[in-house]
Amino acid sequence: MKAIVDAETCIGCEVCVEMCPEVFQMEGEVAIASTEPIAEDLSDLATDAAESCPVDAITIEP
Ligand code: SF4
Repeated sequence: MKAIVDAETCIGCEVCVEMCPEVFQMEGEVAIASTEPIAEDLSDLATDAAESCPVDAITIEP
């Protein structure tokens, strides 16, 4: 499973970074997701963070 942040949509609110810093980091004004596959023990947290994004900028891929 991987996460992708749409930089065009992200408003830089940092919610995902605060919820799951293992996967999401800020890079300038927007969040970026780790390019590494998400560890299984972080998948629920990463999914919750994606669902908490106020502008739906995060896509989770299997
Ligand atoms: S929660 Fe969404 S809008 Fe906020 S920083 Fe993360 S990707 Fe960007």
